[in-house]
Amino acid sequence: MKSIIFIAPPAAGKGTHSTLVEEKYGIPHISTGDLLRSAKNANDDRAKLISELIEQGKLVPDEIVLELLKERLAQEDCKNGYILDGFPRNVSQAEAYDKILSEINMPLGNVILLELDKEIAKKRITGRLTCPKCNAIYNSEAEELKPQVDGYCDNCHVELQHRSDDNAETYDVRYDTYMRETAPLIDYYDAKGVLFRIDSSVGKERTFKEIEKIIGE
Ligand code: AMP
Repeated sequence: MKSIIFIAPPAAGKGTHSTLVEEKYGIPHISTGDLLRSAKNANDDRAKLISELIEQGKLVPDEIVLELLKERLAQEDCKNGYILDGFPRNVSQAEAYDKILSEINMPLGNVILLELDKEIAKKRITGRLTCPKCNAIYNSEAEELKPQVDGYCDNCHVELQHRSDDNAETYDVRYDTYMRETAPLIDYYDAKGVLFRIDSSVGKERTFKEIEKIIGE
């Protein structure tokens, strides 16, 4: 099974589709955003810095992200491939990741770009709800993404939360950060011949069908 990297503007469906790929293909979903949100609960200077940068919609320094990612990739469940959601976020992370892959002798796999217009993504963000226990993502604004019981996770039955950086103001900063730092990865991976583009405005089911075509049965 090949590993998958999702690249997309914030709220374009990286998390949702990573979870669907994890369920269908049985490879772990690694979100650097989730790794950082867990790390920010520690009581130290690093946690404070992570917390501030996430709240501002800015990128956390590469060294911190790479340290957390390396730890996660060393775990047994990553041996047969994994899904990267939110990493790499800039060209220097992509270059560092190429080095990690050659050290652990793993292939790059496929890179899937989920394309979505800024204004549609911004609307999605206001309704986005996350389970604090299993990190499942719901959306009160989209019929197909609503939880079965309003406000509660379908799997864990705990109360869903609205991420504090999911607001219109921080979204603009996050989107600008994406355009400036992350969008150059499109050319980076296109040049390696591993990039696939998918229109994410057509809804969850149709988008996932396109992803399945890329990954295969
Ligand atoms: P996400 O959950 O992917 O939307 O990420 C939420 C926030 O975590 C981002 O706005 C960044 O502040 C931080 N973050 C997540 N992944 C990375 C990364 N690969 N590099 C730097 N910062 C990141």
